[in-house]
Amino acid sequence: MTSCTSMSRSLRLLSVRPQLRTCAPGTTSRTLTIYRCQPKSPLIQTAPRRLAEVRGSTAITNAFPALIARGGNTVADIPAPSPSKRRLLRVAYVLFACVGAGVTTVTVLIGGFFIYDATTYKELDDAQDVELSELALKPRVGGPKNLPILERYLDDEDCEIGKVSMTKPHLVILGSGWGAVAVLKNIKPTDYHITVISPQNHFLFTPMLPSATVGTLEFRSLVEPIRRIVAKVRGHYLEASAEKVVFSERLIEVVKPNPSGGELRFYVPYDKLVVAVGSQSNTHGVEGLEHCNFLKTIEDARQIRRKVVRNLELACLPGTTEAERKRLLSFVVCGGGPTGVEFAAELYDLLNEDLTMIYPKILRNLVSVHIVQSQGHILNTYDEKISQYAQERFKKDSIDVLTNARVSKVLEDRVIFTQKDEEGEVQTKELPYGLCLWSTGVAQCEISKDIVASFESQKNRRAIETDEHLRVIGAPLGEVYAIGDCSTVRTNLTEHIVEFLKSYAVKTGKRVEDCAVNFQQWSDLALNIKRRFPQAGEHLKRVDYLFTEYDTNKSGTLDFDELTHLLQDIDSKMTSLPATAQRANQQGQYLGRKLTTLARTETLAMTVSGDVDDLVYAPFEYRHLGSLAYVGNAAVFDINGYSFVGGLVAMYLWRSVYFAQSVSFRTRALLFMDWFTRGMFGRDMTEI
Ligand code: FAD
Ligand code: MG
Repeated sequence: MTSCTSMSRSLRLLSVRPQLRTCAPGTTSRTLTIYRCQPKSPLIQTAPRRLAEVRGSTAITNAFPALIARGGNTVADIPAPSPSKRRLLRVAYVLFACVGAGVTTVTVLIGGFFIYDATTYKELDDAQDVELSELALKPRVGGPKNLPILERYLDDEDCEIGKVSMTKPHLVILGSGWGAVAVLKNIKPTDYHITVISPQNHFLFTPMLPSATVGTLEFRSLVEPIRRIVAKVRGHYLEASAEKVVFSERLIEVVKPNPSGGELRFYVPYDKLVVAVGSQSNTHGVEGLEHCNFLKTIEDARQIRRKVVRNLELACLPGTTEAERKRLLSFVVCGGGPTGVEFAAELYDLLNEDLTMIYPKILRNLVSVHIVQSQGHILNTYDEKISQYAQERFKKDSIDVLTNARVSKVLEDRVIFTQKDEEGEVQTKELPYGLCLWSTGVAQCEISKDIVASFESQKNRRAIETDEHLRVIGAPLGEVYAIGDCSTVRTNLTEHIVEFLKSYAVKTGKRVEDCAVNFQQWSDLALNIKRRFPQAGEHLKRVDYLFTEYDTNKSGTLDFDELTHLLQDIDSKMTSLPATAQRANQQGQYLGRKLTTLARTETLAMTVSGDVDDLVYAPFEYRHLGSLAYVGNAAVFDINGYSFVGGLVAMYLWRSVYFAQSVSFRTRALLFMDWFTRGMFGRDMTEI
């Protein structure tokens, strides 16, 4: 046993020899190495003897058969391997070292994971006393409808931060989408007593929703539980819908249908209210939309995915006629905006990449995808080059794009639409469908309509109008804000000029209509406008040109009519903000930061009677960062006037942008796994 151990040590030493290559002339590297090591290693000195001792052992006979055959006695007698053999040995050594390191790392990681995992299982603690306010269990009743008023919550006193925030102003946020989540991520837990009300108990990452309709991504990879986000600010969440706001009493009427068919109705009081309820699909008054699918929620995506698979299965059954097969496999998308285009592209990917692998090949020949678009191009809000690229790409992929076509009715199995031909003549046509997606823009939700109807000063019938500080126009100043798809920022510059001229007229003792401004006064006015309406900045860059251009009577001043004309033109150029996640997110971030600042200046708010928002924070300024869309193994980018289109590289870039923007590390990990699974095993085609 002893001799075997020392033998293996000696051999180990031999194995490092090739690296020490300073040989004396006439000696082999092996011999020299051993002699160089001699003074340090008594083991080496005994090596020849030990070798002799172990002579006859199987290991040594196998390792050095030639030496044993010659009757060699010392290590020096072991022949040196040839250079190629040495190289081979070195490679084998490195390989073994790498494999060893890899196996060790994996073992450590798996071991580490199991240790961590074991710490996440907890035994139930002994029951503890929980502090609970009487009002949380038995809310007082009041308000116009004499309903319970939720002033205290069941978890108000669960932790110290909760106890502190209980004493702070009540901030209520309606919605759990882009705008609401951006507010929550930019607010401090102890500044407000926060409540989120939304019927949807998750945040949905909408830009990737079309990918979930065909199984490229899984539903859970696109959602984050809203309670997880709310918990970070020690807030409260109520899964219910806001139905009405009683502005005079600062109460929100909230409704939750209960499982037994009835409903729960109560009030939630607020000091500050943020309305971020988004929008709903625009029907444009078209009949028969109950036969269509929509794409706004996870449930919508789930229904589409089931229907696509169901239609494919029905088309495979023997009793299905050829015409019925064609109808089942006809997919019609009404609306050529980003959502419709991305859905068509995802569908095409599914049919092209997965259908032919597991379904009868004949189905691929019968499948058709159509986009019905009322405008002359698809993606018409993007740069022209981009919409052309998308159209050409779809043509190549045999996706039928019907432009200048307006849907007039949707029947159970057909879409009826009118289309202008090249001569401008309108023709009525129809398209049989197995699935019809309705995606033609957004309209107001019921609660937004109710808020608009509450104030006479609300002029826009399509969205809640706010001022440049995102405060709802007409509501008590600094109490109610609206952000995201449900809102629009009023940019009426002409009203502002009248205000300005009035104050100028008072100073000069003239009538407003008789006032005229010189170049210096116009420059000051432009600066003032830019501060109040940051979006106008883009159109007020060259004040000197504007002055000369609009001074039509060449008087050297801009009179009332000239000024009104100038500002009306700028007003019309400032298009209203787009209904995008980008805008909702920016407004949410802005509002979150502003509310934090306002909380810090609480005492100021109590002492100053004027416009506190304006005093402590600049108006909201939208910065358009660009638009992107997926068009089927390719993507298009429109970034500040620069357009970029491309194939797979652009697609990976598109994925990276959304991967980076995804709401949490958990969703990022899930997204990565979904893309990996698709690449390895294809899309999941089960109807579950
Ligand atoms: P939402 O995110 O819609 O959130 C509204 C919230 O309010 C929801 O949680 C809802 O449950 C809740 N709510 C509704 N009614 C009530 C009520 N009565 N009481 C309380 N809560 C209520 N934008 C982009 O910038 N890029 C894209 O690529 C992109 N792709 C998209 C793809 C699809 C399929 C869709 C549908 C939209 C896409 N958008 C995209 C648009 C983007 O999703 C919206 O502009 C954005 O979600 C608006 O944010 P929001 O906070 O205003 O509303
Ligand atoms: Mg003039």
